[in-house]
Amino acid sequence: MSVIVVGSMAFDAIETPFGKIDRIVGGSAVYVAYAAGNFVKPIQLVSIIGADFSEEEMAELKSRGAQFEGVEIVPGKKSFFWSGRYHLDMNSRDTLITDLNVLADFNPVVPESYQGAEFLMLGNLDPTVQKKVIQQLKTRPKLIVMDTMNFWMEIALPQLEEVLKLVDVLMVNDSEARQLSGQFSLVKAAREIMKMGPKYLIIKKGEHGALLFHEERVFFAPALPLEEVFDPTGAGDTFAGGFIGHIAKTKDVSFENMKTAIIVGSAMASYCVEKFGPERLREITKEDIDNRIREFVQLVNFDIELV
Ligand code: AMP
Repeated sequence: MSVIVVGSMAFDAIETPFGKIDRIVGGSAVYVAYAAGNFVKPIQLVSIIGADFSEEEMAELKSRGAQFEGVEIVPGKKSFFWSGRYHLDMNSRDTLITDLNVLADFNPVVPESYQGAEFLMLGNLDPTVQKKVIQQLKTRPKLIVMDTMNFWMEIALPQLEEVLKLVDVLMVNDSEARQLSGQFSLVKAAREIMKMGPKYLIIKKGEHGALLFHEERVFFAPALPLEEVFDPTGAGDTFAGGFIGHIAKTKDVSFENMKTAIIVGSAMASYCVEKFGPERLREITKEDIDNRIREFVQLVNFDIELV
């Protein structure tokens, strides 16, 4: 069983009300890999990096099951760079810099060794790149999950709409769902987005949890009320990694199993926000993950007797 993960591999500069860091590894594929590697191996990365991406970082990812055959390394050029500043409420942020660098002319090549992968996670990235990866797969994976963001809705909407026709699950946050559908009500937004292609839609609502839509069904998973949120960067990608990791581990693509996958994704995301960048994800053990999943079960477990 294997998962192909497409996404950015980056350096980030992050400013939150609690601190500031000028350079830390990030990128959607990095977060997805750190999260999914707890559940499934190998994680077959498709991305591009510059000469600045360190050997140690690659070794760390490899030790967690990441494969690099599909990662192009461009000598003499810089990796993707992103910088963001969070507002006081930590729910919203301003993007200060998006330097595409090597990402600007990325032409992904899916290596032969990745063919036959059962699951595909299209992390947040240029939709044209996401589509090129799907087109190179000789056998369609069991499940194609796609993440995206407002940045691509603003500069590449037609290309984004093309990819939407090809995927099974789309993940966006609430404001992106509203932007994509032109609907304020999330129920109406979900209906519109599912007409665009994906049969399943996950709408992330930050500290207010996540919604899963499929046909007329809806499932809600809360986010764990955390005492401290230090840095939310990568929470969405980490959620995606936990989600696809659980689905790939269980090989079950039913709505019922997606409910569990959302809880797993939420548990992983709740760890991600505790420290800068992917730092906390590097520390946690299987026991930590299991404990947090138990906390989620406790959070929503109640008895009611209807008379
Ligand atoms: P998240 O907080 O889950 O939205 O993800 C933050 C990560 O996404 C950071 O590590 C960034 O490097 C990466 N990122 C930000 N903007 C983009 C973009 N336009 N394309 C790909 N990755 C991005």
